[in-house]
Amino acid sequence: MAKGAGSSPSIPASEDRGTAPATQSLRQFVVKVHSRCDLACDHCYIYEHADSSWRGRPSVIPLPVVVRTAERIAEHAAAHELDTVHVVLHGGEPLLAGPARLRAIAEEFRSALSGHCRLDLRLQTNAVRLDERFCELFLEHDIKVGVSLDGDRSAHDRHRRFRDGRGSHHHVLRGVRLLNEPRHRHLFAGLLCTVDTRNDPLQVYSALLAAAPPRVDFLLPHATWDQPPARHDGRPTPYADWLIAIADEWFATGRPVPVRLFESILSLLAGGPSFVESTGTTSVDHVVIETDGTIEQADSLKTAYEGAPQTGMDVFSHSLDDVSDHPGLRERRRGLSDLCATCRSCPLVQVCGGGLYAHRFRSGHGFDNPSVYCRDLTELITHFQQRFRD
Ligand code: SF4
Repeated sequence: MAKGAGSSPSIPASEDRGTAPATQSLRQFVVKVHSRCDLACDHCYIYEHADSSWRGRPSVIPLPVVVRTAERIAEHAAAHELDTVHVVLHGGEPLLAGPARLRAIAEEFRSALSGHCRLDLRLQTNAVRLDERFCELFLEHDIKVGVSLDGDRSAHDRHRRFRDGRGSHHHVLRGVRLLNEPRHRHLFAGLLCTVDTRNDPLQVYSALLAAAPPRVDFLLPHATWDQPPARHDGRPTPYADWLIAIADEWFATGRPVPVRLFESILSLLAGGPSFVESTGTTSVDHVVIETDGTIEQADSLKTAYEGAPQTGMDVFSHSLDDVSDHPGLRERRRGLSDLCATCRSCPLVQVCGGGLYAHRFRSGHGFDNPSVYCRDLTELITHFQQRFRD
């Protein structure tokens, strides 16, 4: 799957629940069904950042790993009396697993969770291979599909290219058109757009709207204090400026499509929950299952350092309660006390929440820092505050 900044597609982040109980439930499971990709995006956090653990893993998830993963999730859902769990079929590029393997995976999850809880099954794809066969499968198993699209052709193909240098924009639009056909439309979860400030924001926004998505997400490229984000024109807050240009248009035109980042900020300003992991003092409740059955923390941590997301656990030897008690996850459930002193005393902290956890990393200080996007987040949230007051 082409990405560049990562999160699960269109699943709300959990609200801050304050002090964590002994074992907190997990509700979101990102399952890597294929660990390779058919694109070679230069901003991809899996293949182009610090962690290279994917090299030693099977390409396609073996069925015994799927079966054990589904059993673990069912066991966890029953123990915690969960009414819904969210499973995201992810990659690499999940469509590389092929329709037959994806069908077997979907059947396994549906069957294991039947009688325990509702299964919200999703897939995040670059859509390059999306065709009728996959759409049939999505219909059959009610799989909601998120697509990575960075805007118009020049914006998208700036990064999302095949290994031979060809752009993928044309292929992605073909996939999106299929999803927009009336019989598939209810399966289209939305578009995920990674920000590149060299692209014209309004052109990007207009291209996204032209694809008629039910929802849009903007993601900041993964970066840390060791590897700061590109600031191409030397401006102090290029990411805020870029997003504000779109937000102003979004407000001026009556918010024609839900934009998760913007709606999260508005919700948090009104005292409500966040809908994305990158804002608010959210409590982490998701884990990643790799193709070899190892269980890891959020993929975005791969940008920090080699092995950052590791828990040392796997679906064969560990329950999801074991994973939920891992210090790395417990650390991220303490709300405000999870944050560095600068963030704790920041007037915007309830909305910003220190930004995405991975973006706080600095060698020698770990994650005990403000976000490397601090100035952009300050500018963006302040702009929304102003709007909110008007
Ligand atoms: S704006 Fe900066 S200091 Fe304030 S909470 Fe966010 S990252 Fe921390």
